[in-house]
Amino acid sequence: MEIYDHPTFRMACQQFDLVADRLQILENERARLKFPKRSMTVALPIRCDDGSVQVFSGYRVQHHLTLGPTKGGLRYHPDVTLGEVAALAMWMSWKCALTGLPYGGAKGGISCDPRALSKGELERLTRRYTQEMIPFIGPQIDVMAPDLGTNEQTMAWIMDTYSMHTGYTVPSIVTGKPVALGGSLGRRESTGRGVAYLINRAMDTVGMNAGEATAVVQGFGNVGSVTAFSLAKYGVKVVAVSDAFGGLFNANGINLWELEKFVAETKSVVGFKEADPISNERLLELKCDILVPAALERQITEKNAAKIQCRILAEAANGPTTPEADAILEQRPEIFIIPDILCNAGGVIVSYFEWVQDLQSFFWTETEVMDKLFRILEHAFTQTLTMSRKEKIAMRLAALSLGIKRVQEAKKIRGLFP
Ligand code: NAD
Repeated sequence: MEIYDHPTFRMACQQFDLVADRLQILENERARLKFPKRSMTVALPIRCDDGSVQVFSGYRVQHHLTLGPTKGGLRYHPDVTLGEVAALAMWMSWKCALTGLPYGGAKGGISCDPRALSKGELERLTRRYTQEMIPFIGPQIDVMAPDLGTNEQTMAWIMDTYSMHTGYTVPSIVTGKPVALGGSLGRRESTGRGVAYLINRAMDTVGMNAGEATAVVQGFGNVGSVTAFSLAKYGVKVVAVSDAFGGLFNANGINLWELEKFVAETKSVVGFKEADPISNERLLELKCDILVPAALERQITEKNAAKIQCRILAEAANGPTTPEADAILEQRPEIFIIPDILCNAGGVIVSYFEWVQDLQSFFWTETEVMDKLFRILEHAFTQTLTMSRKEKIAMRLAALSLGIKRVQEAKKIRGLFP
């Protein structure tokens, strides 16, 4: 499967192989489990505001369709490639299976810099992408959601374009859309709140007091900012945050409410006066109790894994820790890792709730949403922790084993067609 070759895809495959060896998955089942079922690459020409025509590359990968439709985010970032998207789709599969959702994993993306595009250009790009994807998506086929560089507005354009094509309104084609269009209460905050909930569980597990704990958050977008606010509400002091342009540090704690206003005006955390500047590299190595990478993949590598100084590593981003870094962290049992497929699962869980609400045209209160979310997370956390302790394996290996085993069993029971 050379078309997927990319460092992040190799990393996802390496993780899969470790689990497959551990679970003694037969050789003839491995490729079927590992490689994506379908993928689509499209060229997206749009007219830019200056009258020129620019062509962007768009991708969508559906990893497996054994348990239901596929589900996964849509990413706008200059580095998006087919291989990166395939890796993210594979992780979505294990995440959905770990949390018991009736989905396979998917992911999509457009290689673009969303900050360099106007709102009109972003809308034309999103609508063109949706139009090209129409034969490939559907509420019972593949359902998109926001990811890096996309948001509720992006989902609203997708829903509108798809609905114009079908001739009637289809809210269940995307999740993470505005509540006014059939979005779920609590979806926007779900990933970050879920991350904070699991950090709270991890603090109990390692015997840490929230009121005395400090946190560092890399990435101050949807997931990072909501995580930071939720941690602050639990009593944790957030001492450093960052975005793509740089970071901030204040040992006395950052005033997140003031920072939020500043970011709304300037679109970056950089320049906020009540903290000192710090680079993203340095930020990851700060001494803290809780470290939350909430930006991109492959941030904790063999270069800095020995230098991180936290007690809890909460992987809010997808794939922030490489297998080489994992090997180093395994020699550091003082660090409790909440692996990505568990840590950021709150987003897809509430996406699932949104899809269910849309299909039934029957909407829940925010309290119902959060209550159901925390129950699912609690169950997944307990199962992962129990397996990790019982079998003396890392939390990541436990979480991946639970997810992969469920997909493997489903494939086995369905059999091989024809
Ligand atoms: P976002 O676009 O809202 O925010 C991303 C943040 O990361 C921004 O602050 C951006 O400036 C920052 N960033 C980008 N490159 C960076 C770099 N090199 N160093 C430091 N910061 C950088 O995206 P998001 O939705 O918050 O997603 C963040 C991560 O969480 C991604 O890995 C995504 O796949 C994962 N995730 C998101 C959701 C969701 O519901 N949005 C669900 C599960 C996982």
